[in-house]
Amino acid sequence: MLQQLIQQAFASFKTKQCWTAFGLAFVTSLLLIFALSLMFSTEEKYAAAEFLPQQAEFASNEVVENFDSPEITEPEDNHIHVVKISSGDTLLKVLTRVGLSYSEANKVFLATKKVFNPKDLRVGQKFEIETELTDNGLVVKSLDSTIRTGQYLHVALNDNDTYSAKLSKDELIEELKSVSGKVNGTLSLAMNRNGVPNRITANFISIFSQGVNFRRDLKKGDSYEIVYENYLTPDGKTVKHGNIVYAALNLGKNKMELYRFKDSTGHIDYYTPKGLTLKKNTLSRRPMAYQSNRISSYFGPRRHPIYKDKRVHWGVDYPAPKGSAIYAGGDGTVEVAQYKSGYGNYVRIRHNGEYSTAYGHMNGFAKGIRAGSKVKQGQVIGYVGSTGRSTGPHLHYEVIRNGKRVNPLTIKATASQNLQGKNLSNFKREMAKLNSTRQKMLAAKNKEEKLAQKPATKL
Ligand SMILES: [Zn+2]
Repeated sequence: MLQQLIQQAFASFKTKQCWTAFGLAFVTSLLLIFALSLMFSTEEKYAAAEFLPQQAEFASNEVVENFDSPEITEPEDNHIHVVKISSGDTLLKVLTRVGLSYSEANKVFLATKKVFNPKDLRVGQKFEIETELTDNGLVVKSLDSTIRTGQYLHVALNDNDTYSAKLSKDELIEELKSVSGKVNGTLSLAMNRNGVPNRITANFISIFSQGVNFRRDLKKGDSYEIVYENYLTPDGKTVKHGNIVYAALNLGKNKMELYRFKDSTGHIDYYTPKGLTLKKNTLSRRPMAYQSNRISSYFGPRRHPIYKDKRVHWGVDYPAPKGSAIYAGGDGTVEVAQYKSGYGNYVRIRHNGEYSTAYGHMNGFAKGIRAGSKVKQGQVIGYVGSTGRSTGPHLHYEVIRNGKRVNPLTIKATASQNLQGKNLSNFKREMAKLNSTRQKMLAAKNKEEKLAQKPATKL
């Protein structure tokens, strides 16, 4: 039976038509296979070109060439590339763009990161990158960039193929700058017109703020003079402004002059030529938000409400609702802010070498009030309470003068720090020195202005 079947099949194949059909089918399938294999291979190539950069960024130099960048320079043996950072650039991108392999670029990047925060990269920042083609591929010989005026980044290749980065700064030159002029409108406008930086103008106004009402006192035709510190790079670029060392206002017949001075305790302030401060820094007698005339206990001997015997009351008690604000009695530094037995929650502020104030029975301290914090007069330091030995919510307020508690209601407690003794003589000496510098600067300026006004000489 099997033999019969084979014979039949053989017979049918013998016909010419069938052979042609078979052959055609064979050739077609061959072509199909070839075409398919070709298609798959091109697909693979596409995949390589499109996805590789994202999967492994800048894995090879070929990939970098795909980037549309005008800064690409063909690597030569030795080449200096000047690259300007544009938006979206990273240092790594820049380094690979000049032709570095990813791993080499990363070596430079990691060394740089040690001294320069990559986040500080500015659009427009210039990099000068010297590359060199070595047996190990392209390397950076040196990289230089100005981080900001007067501050430089320098990366160099070491002998052992590592990179080291360092920052350097220009030695800044300090000079005094003198500006003066008439006021015709607002003071800030007048100063702005003469090139005084805004921050310096704001400081000038703040220095006089306790002695001058600028809105009321300043009239047209009044004048000002200011001397402040200016810091320059060796090539003459201003990098920053320092302190105002002299500030003067000519208000009609009233001339006000202030000099900056650091006293023997390190306190810095502005003083009149007589060594007086403009600050009306009188200690508050009732440093709190709740204002009434009530005093529940005065300074001095009294019958104690708890011990029922005669004791000295070392402060003044101001009854007030629990939780109302307590203010610093003057500018100063917090010395104590903690629970202190009978006082309950207690704060002591040192105002100067002479005066301190203390506050007792507080419900709690204001945010940021702790030993060492600086406070301004009127700043909230805590809240009225009844902690410690207290019979009801009130502020117990003490004024301490040279270590002794005194009556807050009778002292003429000026916390102002007019200069005295050695501080005053030092101040006068510094003032005389500055005045002579000022005169020289003014004379030079007048000469300059006269020269500028002179008509051009005939040729
Ligand atoms: Zn008291």
